[in-house]
Amino acid sequence: MQSLEINQTSLYTEEITLFADVIVPVAVPNTFTYRVPREYAASITAGLRVIVQFGKTKVVTAVIARIHNKPPEKYQAKYILEVLDDAPLVNAKQIELFYWIADYYMCTVGEVLNIALPSGLKISSLSKVQFNPEFDQPALLTERETEIIEELKKHQSLNYDELARFAEVKNVYHIIKSLIQKKAVIVFEEVREKYTPKILKKIRLNHFYEDPSYLTALIGELEKSPKQLDVILNYLKFVPVLRTPELNKKGLEKNALTKANVSESSLSTLLKNGILEQFEVIVSRFEEDLDFVEAPTPVLSESQEKAFSEIMQSFQTKDTTLLHGITGSGKTEVYIKLIEQVLESGSQVLYLLPEIALTTQIVVRLRKVFGDKMGIYHSRFSDNERVEVWKGVVSGKFQFVVGVRSAVFLPFDNLGLIIVDEEHETSYKQFDPAPRYHARDVAVVIAHRQKAKVLLGSATPSIESFYNAKTERYGFVEMKERFGNTQLPDIELIDIKVARKQKLTKGDFSNLMLDTMGLNLEKKQQTILFQNRRGYSPYIQCEDCDTIAACPNCDVSLTYHYSNQELRCHYCGHHEPMSKTCQACGSTKLKTRGYGTEKLEEELQIFLPNAKIARMDLDTTRTKTAFQTLINEVESGAVDILVGTQMVSKGLDFEKVSLVCIFDADRMIHFPDFRSSERAFQMLTQVAGRAGRRGTQGKVLIQTNNPKQKILQQIIENDYLGLYQDEIKEREDFQYPPFTRIIKITLRHIDQPNAEKAAQALAQKLIEKLGTPRVLGPEKPLVERVRNQYLFEIMIKLEKTINLKGAKAFIAEQVQNIELSKDFKGVGIVVDVDCG
Ligand code: ADP
Ligand code: ZN
Ligand code: ZN
Repeated sequence: MQSLEINQTSLYTEEITLFADVIVPVAVPNTFTYRVPREYAASITAGLRVIVQFGKTKVVTAVIARIHNKPPEKYQAKYILEVLDDAPLVNAKQIELFYWIADYYMCTVGEVLNIALPSGLKISSLSKVQFNPEFDQPALLTERETEIIEELKKHQSLNYDELARFAEVKNVYHIIKSLIQKKAVIVFEEVREKYTPKILKKIRLNHFYEDPSYLTALIGELEKSPKQLDVILNYLKFVPVLRTPELNKKGLEKNALTKANVSESSLSTLLKNGILEQFEVIVSRFEEDLDFVEAPTPVLSESQEKAFSEIMQSFQTKDTTLLHGITGSGKTEVYIKLIEQVLESGSQVLYLLPEIALTTQIVVRLRKVFGDKMGIYHSRFSDNERVEVWKGVVSGKFQFVVGVRSAVFLPFDNLGLIIVDEEHETSYKQFDPAPRYHARDVAVVIAHRQKAKVLLGSATPSIESFYNAKTERYGFVEMKERFGNTQLPDIELIDIKVARKQKLTKGDFSNLMLDTMGLNLEKKQQTILFQNRRGYSPYIQCEDCDTIAACPNCDVSLTYHYSNQELRCHYCGHHEPMSKTCQACGSTKLKTRGYGTEKLEEELQIFLPNAKIARMDLDTTRTKTAFQTLINEVESGAVDILVGTQMVSKGLDFEKVSLVCIFDADRMIHFPDFRSSERAFQMLTQVAGRAGRRGTQGKVLIQTNNPKQKILQQIIENDYLGLYQDEIKEREDFQYPPFTRIIKITLRHIDQPNAEKAAQALAQKLIEKLGTPRVLGPEKPLVERVRNQYLFEIMIKLEKTINLKGAKAFIAEQVQNIELSKDFKGVGIVVDVDCG
């Protein structure tokens, strides 16, 4: 890098020098000022990405926040090495938003930028570069680039330094930039899922026959060779070219024809004679699942129309409106009509969905209406795909994006509407790393800044949003009927304690639950069995000495996974082979305790040997397509019973699921957290809502040790209002949100006493100024040690009337004092605003 420094001085001129404050995507508190080389002076502007040297050896991509002519006082500004964009990829509204998020969620703007920008837009010395297997235009490359591409093909990927060494230049970003523009390489930050495109072999008619008269003539001619005619007729069955000639361009998967049992040799003959032609297309794995036919928007039902016009009316006076619609009321159709309307007016629309829901049926439905005008922004996507969406928003190709929480960072500048579906979902909150933002709340802020409207939708709204609606900060619209007037499912509780006493159980199931599943099977209906624990059993205990197998790095039991005979820690990922003997006393009497989805799946197969059972949890859906494949299997009827964790509760819509069984309701209800009732209500109501969504009323069975619990009664009666009233009173009495804001500070250290000392010192400082009712702790969390670090938590409750900025500045200062103090070396501190 030294030669650069020399170059830089030689560029110095006596004209006015411009400086750029840039945001570097790392966790340092400040922005940095760089000097703008003269060649860029005329075109430089905020929002452009630049390459700068950061620290002694690192080269990173940064974003310009501001241009000015004041040199920094405390250091000599280095030159910007290169400007990456011709036009800003980040707009002024976003930059403001990034600062707002950093401020509100108490992190650095660099951390925000780091999460906001897809890695494909951040070349740095930490980047890895991979050859793009989809690249098919070698003619575009210079000689130098071709050499580099050849080298890349020999490796999985190369990092910046390796490339620089190979190219024998100091600054290889020049070349990388050009290769990215030519789409010859993919840049990513760590070795994640590699981007491997899928190639489809397709067949179509020679375009000559798109003319109906030629096609008719061809069919007449082929009457002499019936086998060839059979191939053509089969093709036309799938692709009705006579009716819609354009369809021929997309062709048909070769597989579809061969599966239709046509003569392979006749197919070859037709190809040889040029009547049919073969071609290949590259499909992104996600797109392929969503191959769509545009369909007209469904006609809204009366209650949907009513909800639609009430929402429109509410938007006249309120920026945010809560749509409380029971499960199956058809909220999606209402959203679709709203989206269409806003798009017509020329504004942009963002539709946020929780992580899992986004991989499913809802997206397929939206695709049918909005076609490829709709961008999909998903964390399971490769960086390339995310970069395309980002650029598509800038260019106007995507006026409408459906995405997960990180889609709030996309470069919108003219939003008309943001929909936050399932607004109560916890996955809208990012826990790690910073910024620990809540996408729903950020959406409300963005909308406010862009004068857009927000629609929050849920069958089980968060207590906060409902409170906001009740107090008229938000508008409020209700949908109380299921589409098609199907009744909400009938929910019945099973007292598992009594069943056990009366010996009315088999394995871990009550007979009633098993028998009902059996009956449902006979009726050829489908069942969902819900248990919110994956693995076989959550712990293994020795019958002789009572020892429970625990993680060496965390204070939690290891979960037994049967399929690969492993014990695994769900906190740190530690795994070890399942041993046959107790690690404490050597006894062979090990017992599995508790029930995970894997165990229930196994037991069910024994009791219902004829049932086709599938399992949906984190372990069975690791690959990009596994989730969709499972859904297809359920839709096609290849599965009778779907066993799953909370994944089965989110947004799924299966016609034939008429029974939902909840194996254990109690664990959720008794989780020690002020939100546990709210969460239990949401989770159980959502799962129950999967039953009987079309036509006949569904049935839900819930096993519990205590059927008298009030919350279970509220769930049975779908008494959200009752739940809300109980909760809001408790929140007020104990000063929890929405009456306060909670900031949670977690301190960690490998030695417990050190972690505790630091936590106490911090708590004391906080209490001195904020007082005890506001500051709680330090306390040990439920799991005291994670990844070999001991944890302590301090909870701060700030009432809504406090000067929030001042309070946060004070807290940040105290945190920093601890971080800088020699006494507390090695103590890590995490600040989480509006936690959980
Ligand atoms: P929610 O999200 O409110 O739980 P959905 O939007 O998933 O409900 O709708 C439930 C089911 O009813 C879906 O299968 C959907 O296709 C169907 N549906 C809803 N509204 C209509 C409509 N207007 N016309 C046809 N089908 C509809
Ligand atoms: Zn033992
Ligand atoms: Zn662990």
